[in-house]
Amino acid sequence: MQKKLQQLTDLQALDTKLYSIEKAKGNLPYLVNEFTNEIEQFNNELEEFNNDFDDTKKDLNESKTTIDESNTLLGKYKDQRSMVTNNKEYEALVNEMAYRENLVEELTLKISELNIALENKKELIEEKKSILEEKTANLSEKQQQLNEKLAETAEEENKLAEKRNKLVAKIDKQLYNLYERIYRSKNQAAVVPADEGHCGGCFTMLPSQKLSELKRRDSIVQCDTCSRILIYSLEDESK
Ligand SMILES: [Zn+2]
Repeated sequence: MQKKLQQLTDLQALDTKLYSIEKAKGNLPYLVNEFTNEIEQFNNELEEFNNDFDDTKKDLNESKTTIDESNTLLGKYKDQRSMVTNNKEYEALVNEMAYRENLVEELTLKISELNIALENKKELIEEKKSILEEKTANLSEKQQQLNEKLAETAEEENKLAEKRNKLVAKIDKQLYNLYERIYRSKNQAAVVPADEGHCGGCFTMLPSQKLSELKRRDSIVQCDTCSRILIYSLEDESK
C-alpha cells in the first residue's frame, strides 16, 4: 500500500509540473487558433467580393458591347430610311430605331452607375486586403511566440510525459481511474497532503479517526468533503 501511495504522490507531482508548463504557454495556442480561423473566414469573404467585382465588370462590358452594336445598327437604319418605298416598312424602321436609341440611353445610364459601383467595390476590396494583411502579420507574430515557447519547454515536457507513462503503467488501473476522475474534476489536484490535520485540497478539518487511518497508511483515504486522496507526508514517517 505504501508503494501505491508513493506512486500516487509521484503522479500528482508530475501532473502538477506538466500543468504549470501548459499554463505558462498562456492563451497563445488559443489565440493562434482564433487568428487562423478568422483569416480563413476573411479570405472567403474577400473571394466573394472579388467575384462580385468581376460580375459587375462583366455586366459593364456587356452593356458597352450592346451600345456599340446598337450604334452600328442605328447608322445602318439611317441609310435604309432614305431608301424605304412604303409606309409600313418606314414605320417598322422608325420603331426599331426608337427602340435602339432608348436602349443606348438606358445602357449609358447603367454604365455610369456600374462605374460608381465598381469604384466602391474596389475601395472595399482594398480595405479588406489591408485588414487581412494586418491580421496575417499578427498571426505570424503570435505563431512565432508560440513556437519559441514550445521549443523552450518541449524537452522538459517530453521527459515528464515519458516518466508519467512509465509510472502510469505500474499503477493499479482502478486506482489510476480514481485519480484521473478526481484530478479532472478537482482543479488538477487529486492527491493532497493532510499533515496539518486538514485536507490540503478543501481545507476541511479531518476527524481524528481519519487521521489515524491516514497514519496507518494501509488504505486509500479520501477526504469526505472533496473526495481528494489524502496523503500523510512521507517525511513524517521518520518522526
Ligand atoms: Zn477535501
